[in-house]
Amino acid sequence: MTTPFDLHGKTAIVTGANTGIGQAIALSLAQAGADIAAVGRTPAQDTVDQVRALGRQADIISADLSTIEPVQRVLDETLEKLGALDILVNNAGIIRRADSVDFTEEDWDAVIDTNLKTTFFLCQAAGRHMLAQGAGKIINIASLLSFQGGIRVPSYTASKSGVAGLTKLLANEWAARGVNVNAIAPGYIATNNTAALQADETRNRQIQERIPAGRWGDPADIGGAAVFLASSAADYIHGHTLAVDGGWLAR
Ligand code: NDP
Repeated sequence: MTTPFDLHGKTAIVTGANTGIGQAIALSLAQAGADIAAVGRTPAQDTVDQVRALGRQADIISADLSTIEPVQRVLDETLEKLGALDILVNNAGIIRRADSVDFTEEDWDAVIDTNLKTTFFLCQAAGRHMLAQGAGKIINIASLLSFQGGIRVPSYTASKSGVAGLTKLLANEWAARGVNVNAIAPGYIATNNTAALQADETRNRQIQERIPAGRWGDPADIGGAAVFLASSAADYIHGHTLAVDGGWLAR
């Protein structure tokens, strides 16, 4: 018996699939039945091995997504190696921290290019394919800073607000043509990205006390949301940014 969350027969691109949230999303999609193109600059061998151990197909696609140069090749290699494309998860992302008065153009461009520009052009390339086949799911990884200002992360906040806006725009354009574009806004998730915060005893305690659920998120919490948005259970959801944050934004 199949469930609405069944992804057998589907193929997903996941960017930044070697670690953290991207790896958890790739494994969750594979557990639901999807084959995985694990895209990133560090080869996602561990992820691919784990996906194959689940009995799904998986391949590494090497690409530095700090520019849009590899975007079309990522699509072409996915179709060549895995034979289909049904799901795109734009997860790869970086953050740079400095006071806004001191923020450099380099730190602005690096974050905007990776988090926002490449995300858009991957949506465009995958969108062309999905529109032609009349079906597809795109999931962009946003942030709490798609909704809140944050501090000392101007390019990150701009990029993630941009991701949420872009998600709505693409949904407007593509919803009637069978392509769902949505986003997930993770709260505080325990990954390498947040290792310094977790290691700082005071900050760690403050964060946990501020989260209604009383704990950091696990990357698998984001994987579950990705399975939902990638599945037919989400066919009528368009342009939404789903906070998976232990209640942070509810406070
Ligand atoms: P990690 O730093 O653990 O992972 C980031 C991933 O992005 C890595 O796979 C990394 O690859 C990849 N990446 C970065 N730059 C590039 C690039 N130029 N080309 C290809 N891949 C690249 O972070 P998380 O797992 O925590 O974050 C994943 C996403 O979730 C990001 O978009 C982040 O902004 C978002 N997020 C995370 C939150 C958290 O609390 N952890 C909260 C809100 C949003 P490599 O290993 O090669 O650097």
